[in-house]
Amino acid sequence: MVTHLGYCGRLTKEDTYPGVMSQTAVSLPIPRVPTRRERLQDIPVDGDKRILLAAPRGYCAGVDRAVITVEKALQRYGAPVYVRKQIVHNIHVVRELEQQGAIFVEEVDEVPEGSHVVFSAHGVSPMVVDAASDRGLQAIDATCPLVTKVHREAKRFARDDFHILLVGHEGHEEVEGTAGEAPDNVTIVNNPTEADTIEVDDPSKLVWLSQTTLSVDETMETVNRLRARFPELQDPPSDDICYATQNRQVAIKKVAEHADLVIVVGSANSSNSVRLVEVALQYGAKAAYRIDYPDEVRQEWLDGVRTIGITSGASVPDVLVQELMRELAQAGYGDVEEVRTAEEDLIFSLPKELRDGPRGGRRSQE
Ligand code: SF4
Repeated sequence: MVTHLGYCGRLTKEDTYPGVMSQTAVSLPIPRVPTRRERLQDIPVDGDKRILLAAPRGYCAGVDRAVITVEKALQRYGAPVYVRKQIVHNIHVVRELEQQGAIFVEEVDEVPEGSHVVFSAHGVSPMVVDAASDRGLQAIDATCPLVTKVHREAKRFARDDFHILLVGHEGHEEVEGTAGEAPDNVTIVNNPTEADTIEVDDPSKLVWLSQTTLSVDETMETVNRLRARFPELQDPPSDDICYATQNRQVAIKKVAEHADLVIVVGSANSSNSVRLVEVALQYGAKAAYRIDYPDEVRQEWLDGVRTIGITSGASVPDVLVQELMRELAQAGYGDVEEVRTAEEDLIFSLPKELRDGPRGGRRSQE
């Protein structure tokens, strides 16, 4: 059973994924913060300075599970454990796992035969699974269950002879993996403009699916344009844009309307982090920037800024946000107000290879 995810809903269906649950926070240490610039200066502005801190922000259940999967694999099998692609799209997380003994590779043919390899949270196509098997690799699948759900939808609709319009960014690992489930039945639609030009053979058997980390608003625009051309276009059985992506966008919309500046912590290849910058600008932030590390904040960004909005992508550990706030406090932004728009308590089972305990789990929800 798959839960339908409402636009700003709270998803609490642990029983959808019974068994072992991952912990809700990983044990990454406080990051070493590079010091490439001078300490931020506390320059007076008209009025009081403050921070609006978006919530939810940061780690989602799928990222949490994927990071713990690598940590547990290292504990169980010893270093090195190989990981195909970045386990999650965050450079800090990747560096920390490298220090623990993970080796990140682009493709499975770089992994020594017989080794353990973890598939990233973004998922893989069947071709990658087969390639790992042919090489005799011990594969551990850390694909987020919400990505797996979209894979299943793609397989099912292809089996029923539908053509699938996959709204998503060509070249993104998740899109490659989903499209790889039914390569002959999928057309990727990158944006609303492409919706005006794509061609299909049979518009009467058409369904749209999407990448999990898109802008909700832009996706709806793309779908509306598709439906204007193909009125029989079917919707997915449940939202493909995941609860975490949606919740973070709703929260930053609330923050952005009051913010002179929004800072999004997240890596450049993190789709949902980049979307948060775009959404902040669309919803009223006078300026918005994405950073990996707090030392990337520039003094000039703070010129005349009273209210700073802060959020972080779904692959970002909160230690980076806490460090950012400590730096901004030095510049007079010590007054912090949380703007919370949803509660999240979803957790996913670890991959079966890493379960232990009586029911295969180290922590059960029951
Ligand atoms: S952003 Fe959504 S789909 Fe991606 S790992 Fe997190 S919960 Fe899963």
